[in-house]
Amino acid sequence: MTQRGVVLSGTGGKWRVHTEDEQIVWAVLRGRLKLAGRAEKLAVGDAVRLGAPGTGESGAAYTIEEILPRRSTLARRNPETGVGERIVASNVDQVLIVFAAARPEPNERVLDRFLAIAEGSELAARIVINKMDLVADSATRERFALYERLGYPIHFTSCKRGDGLDAVAPILSDRTSVLAGPSGVGKSSLMNALYPALDLRVAEISESVNKGRHTTVGAYIHPLPNGAYLVDTPGLREVGLWGLPVTALDTCFPEFREHLGNCRFGDCAHDAEPDCAIREATVSGAIDAGRYESYRRMRQELVETEKTY
Ligand code: GDP
Ligand code: ZN
Repeated sequence: MTQRGVVLSGTGGKWRVHTEDEQIVWAVLRGRLKLAGRAEKLAVGDAVRLGAPGTGESGAAYTIEEILPRRSTLARRNPETGVGERIVASNVDQVLIVFAAARPEPNERVLDRFLAIAEGSELAARIVINKMDLVADSATRERFALYERLGYPIHFTSCKRGDGLDAVAPILSDRTSVLAGPSGVGKSSLMNALYPALDLRVAEISESVNKGRHTTVGAYIHPLPNGAYLVDTPGLREVGLWGLPVTALDTCFPEFREHLGNCRFGDCAHDAEPDCAIREATVSGAIDAGRYESYRRMRQELVETEKTY
């Protein structure tokens, strides 16, 4: 009898797998899978087929017989060499981007960056604005209305008061989510409020703490109730826009899309070129000036990165 499972974590050839009957077991890749050159390609989040228990080698009770096709991969540049990709997690469905209404003060340019990274990885993005107890409700809703108009679902919560949490739980069901956002906004408070039994790696998830550690610590996946999984990855920012050609950045801004193709030059960078439809749309107010600024900053960085590698 074989069964399916999801790889939660693993290094050095041993993997923790969450089985469909809710067990967490150790498993190793079957020898022949390794020989086929797939060993290093197994990633957390992979759905696998396990062999019958007791057939494993090197002390693990199970073997991984098959890696099932992936729905998606979240990859970044290999941190050691700078070339080639490293899969952070597979089968991620969405990114939950958490910001605070205040303390720390939200920075829209950083939010834009997370959103563009999600778009670049073809992941659905949702925004959670937490700490709604600290500021006037209507002012905050107005501040983020732009993002709702762009098509990103927004949830307003207060972990302190328990507001809005009921609406967040269902959006995590039956899918795999990555939690992202600056440190101190309440990501772990939110998850602990929703899932008291969860032991989130609070330290690793906050990016400031994690600087320089991401090369050794891989992603880790928590099984949640209702078939949900939560990816606890050290900084989505490291994932960045890896693999995204500079020329594709403009497509990561949904409101740009209807204007693309209307610029005078086909390879317009939407910078100082004459007759740029994106710049014109920004001047006319159709595109938010802050969003355009985010695009320009990210483009500059991508150009610099391409020079480095
Ligand atoms: P993380 O770094 O994003 O995981 O943030 P934490 O969950 O560690 O929370 C950072 C701080 O914000 C802690 O002191 C929390 O108690 C506090 N906090 C979390 N949620 C709320 C909230 O809804 N309102 C207020 N006022 N404080 C909150
Ligand atoms: Zn242009």
